[in-house]
Amino acid sequence: MKRTALVTGGTRGIGRSIATALKDDGHSVAVTYHGNEETAQRFVHETGIAAFKFDVSQFAACDVSLKQIERDVGPIDILVNNAGITRDVPLHKMTPAQWHEVISTDLTSCFNMCRLLIGGMRDRGFGRIVNISSINGQKGQFGQTNYAAAKAGMLGFTKALALESAARGITVNAVAPGYIETDMVASVAKEVLARIVSQIPVGHLGQGDDVARIVQFLVSERAGFITGSTITANGGQYLV
Ligand code: NDP
Repeated sequence: MKRTALVTGGTRGIGRSIATALKDDGHSVAVTYHGNEETAQRFVHETGIAAFKFDVSQFAACDVSLKQIERDVGPIDILVNNAGITRDVPLHKMTPAQWHEVISTDLTSCFNMCRLLIGGMRDRGFGRIVNISSINGQKGQFGQTNYAAAKAGMLGFTKALALESAARGITVNAVAPGYIETDMVASVAKEVLARIVSQIPVGHLGQGDDVARIVQFLVSERAGFITGSTITANGGQYLV
């Protein structure tokens, strides 16, 4: 069935793969981005998918923008909380700003987006929410106390909201990708990345499509019995 989907951080990387895959499935799709105008304009031109600019870490900005998006594309049935950032540094050197920026962009954004859209989903008796967590929220990672805390927090958030929403036809699931070839991973130092790849049993980085295919399934009508789960796509790097 054709639904309306919103993918945060959908103009590049994993979000772009998810947005285009959902469009290929026949859904009406919109994405959000934060500040990278050139990439966003190229995305819109290449995909024909509408892109909306706002900061997902700010509740008021989400509120204003979601009203606009729902006016433009219709009530959101499928929400993919994908936008995320890293600010890697060991805790003994981490500034409060580096902590708060990651927690608010990666975790508080899930509250903001879900809080604003869950009422409509409950009223309509259908919803699909997918939160893009991370392997490092499951296993921890040097230099990522902020990121690991946010991504682990998303898993607890997913389970609690799944319980609250199950009787209303809304499923809430998480995907925990391993290392996927995007700008985020390109920013990791070459020697660190080589060490990481050597720890991936399949022997290579993942692609955005590896994550998108999971999301395509989770948001489908057929996946209605799957809620509160975390599905990994990490090439065997961490087995839970
Ligand atoms: P990218 O850095 O390639 O893209 C991030 C996207 O999020 C961009 O569209 C960016 O917009 C948007 N974004 C960032 N901050 C905000 C904000 N405050 N408000 C709105 N949008 C924002 O990320 P990836 O594709 O690599 O990662 C996507 C998700 O997957 C993230 O949550 C990440 O933590 C997670 N993940 C990634 C892994 C990987 O190996 N790449 C592994 C595990 C998890 P703009 O372009 O305007 O900056």
